[in-house]
Amino acid sequence: MSRNAESTAFRSALEVVRGVEPRVADAIAAELADQRESLKLIASENYASPATLLAMGNWFSDKYAEGTVGRRFYAGCQNVDTVEALAAEHARELFGASHAYVQPHSGIDANLVAFWAILADRVESPALKKAQARQVNDLTEADWFALRRELGNQRMLGMSLDAGGHLTHGFRPNISGKMFDQRSYGTDPATGLIDYDRVAEAAREFKPLILVAGYSAYPRKVNFRIMREIADSVGATFMVDMAHFAGLVAGKVFTGDFDPVPHAHIVTTTTHKSLRGPRGGMVLCGPELADQVDRGCPMVLGGPLPHVMAAKAVALAEARRPDFADYAQRIVDNAQALADGLLRRGATLVTGGTDNHLVLIDVSGYGLTGRQAEQALLDSGIVTNRNSVPQDPNGAWYTSGIRIGTPALTTRGLGAAEMDATAELIHTVLSQTTPGTGPDGAASKAKYVLDPAVAESVGKQAADLLTPFPLYPAVDLG
Ligand SMILES: *Cc1c(COP(=O)(O)O)cnc(C)c1O
Repeated sequence: MSRNAESTAFRSALEVVRGVEPRVADAIAAELADQRESLKLIASENYASPATLLAMGNWFSDKYAEGTVGRRFYAGCQNVDTVEALAAEHARELFGASHAYVQPHSGIDANLVAFWAILADRVESPALKKAQARQVNDLTEADWFALRRELGNQRMLGMSLDAGGHLTHGFRPNISGKMFDQRSYGTDPATGLIDYDRVAEAAREFKPLILVAGYSAYPRKVNFRIMREIADSVGATFMVDMAHFAGLVAGKVFTGDFDPVPHAHIVTTTTHKSLRGPRGGMVLCGPELADQVDRGCPMVLGGPLPHVMAAKAVALAEARRPDFADYAQRIVDNAQALADGLLRRGATLVTGGTDNHLVLIDVSGYGLTGRQAEQALLDSGIVTNRNSVPQDPNGAWYTSGIRIGTPALTTRGLGAAEMDATAELIHTVLSQTTPGTGPDGAASKAKYVLDPAVAESVGKQAADLLTPFPLYPAVDLG
């Protein structure tokens, strides 16, 4: 496609928006400018292709399409059927799954769909069977009461939040923590790695209905074959949430024991992180759970987002091309270069390194909290996010860690040399930042002191690093 087509498309779109609410058009343009200027190391973010972005901005957004392909509760869904079927086909082929459900609006939604599919499949509930056989009118008050009792309080075993697990894996602030009786497995305090014997022990003691694997902040591979054996040994359904690392599965960097799809009963993901698609979610499963998964709407979802499903089809088609595998490998190579650069300069990393797309720096080695480090880096033009480390003494708000990831910078084209330079910039900022004090002179977990000249100099070097790697190079808003 010509560079001209992309510029024309985005310029024209902004002109149309500007005609109604110029402040929105300005904010959209400002967002591109900001993203172009920042050294983005947020492990869960990426830059979707212009084709993916443009597939979302159209009249598919106007359509209601509750139901599934060919079986809708609304008339006139033939074109939605086309894009939903295409997205599902690309997903099945890409991941080698027998069934793909591409309607979830986000990762959280995909997990809710999966939880309810598992509950409906696994829990012996005559009332639920009646309800699903569309005999809802036959259900008595006592049936409904029984249904709530039978489905409530089921057990889930997932990775603990501070070891890198996700909120939706049974933690209190999320509905999963209220819906399920949850226990968690952590990591070995000495190595920071998952201790599969401990997971097996926890599973034997707790006998969960669902064993969940997957993470947002664990910098290593997970052996899904072993996890499946553990699930089988206690009769649990094995669910993997690959929201963060789906791009590495798609790009065949994670294969064999490290590819969740052949090992899990059900796999959920986002589509916008390392997979580089539109903001959304997806569920993959075998034939046993397919019917229950397809009831995601109306069980926990409303009408699907056809414009986002169109963009999922585009992004998944991109992920099936050979250059996506190169991209996925470069993500991991870059994360390792960044980790090596940090270690060489004396940083402490959780697990001592990485074999995926992310690195977790324990900033207590620099005498800082995660919050101080995050802000000092931001002042210096480096965008990261603070994150708990295992057994974090500073809790989930201040934290002791900084999570950094390479999917976004790898999309821009930065490589090992730039990762080493990035490590130098991060180390410079963290080693020159000192904790501040509160109004009463006591040590603060939020305040910090960083010489503005250092922040300015690092910010300038970060901007220079990006100059040879323009973001959306074909898009010129004029
Ligand atoms: C990001 C993430 C989610 C949630 O995705 P949203 O699209 O933000 O709802 C779920 N699970 C894991 C493991 C994640 O990393």
